[in-house]
Amino acid sequence: MIRRKMVAGNWKMNKNLYETRDLLREMVPELKDITYVDIVVCPPFVGLGVAVRETADTPIQLGAQNLHWEASGAYTGETSPAMLVDLCRYVIIGHSERRAMFGETDVSVNKKVKAALQAGLLPIMCVGETLEENKAGLTAEVVSRMVREGLKDLTALQATDVIIAYEPVWAIGTGLAATPDGANAVHRDVIRPILREMFGQLVGNGMRILYGGSVTPANAAELFAQSDIDGGLVGGASLKTESFVAIVKAAL
Ligand code: PEP
Repeated sequence: MIRRKMVAGNWKMNKNLYETRDLLREMVPELKDITYVDIVVCPPFVGLGVAVRETADTPIQLGAQNLHWEASGAYTGETSPAMLVDLCRYVIIGHSERRAMFGETDVSVNKKVKAALQAGLLPIMCVGETLEENKAGLTAEVVSRMVREGLKDLTALQATDVIIAYEPVWAIGTGLAATPDGANAVHRDVIRPILREMFGQLVGNGMRILYGGSVTPANAAELFAQSDIDGGLVGGASLKTESFVAIVKAAL
């Protein structure tokens, strides 16, 4: 099964409008001829408008970092799927920072995934164990639960539009990436079998599973060469043109 690779940059809460414009003006010439990998940039909400202008007619696609599941209403400070769909194609859902700091749960992640799909957005759903869970040997259990609960009640057709990002919390922003073998084992032996079980062989084998957590130009090629690592969700290294472009190019 050949899956098209994806490299998505999660800018988190970084870059104002001018910085967004300048960074994209630097990245576009370097990435404009790359057609063999899906390139996604996820700036903060307020930068999406500028990003739409700067990436028009380029292969760079855009994503948001969160959304609310309701379509509209009295939800101060929130952003609906219907608002995002005019600006971007992807949305990161259930990032570990949102789970840890903003009270997101498997239940809210599932609502968000369904709302995103209903609006025509492609969710990048994040799952991953903490250091304590990892040390306690709970990785498979925790990741399985997050995948099953996050994708609960989806049809196989809907699942084809979902991208999973396995992001062990201990690897995010720490410089301590999972080993290519270790990450691939979670993708191949934990996540992929659940996707097959939930959505059938064809769909389960076709869904992309990204790895995230301290991906750099130095480790990207080896990570992306693994059988079930279909690209990366990149935080820190996505904020600089040189490192982001090098990671994209590693996704051959
Ligand atoms: C992330 O936040 O999704 C991430 C993977 O961060 P970093 O690449 O900086 O570890």
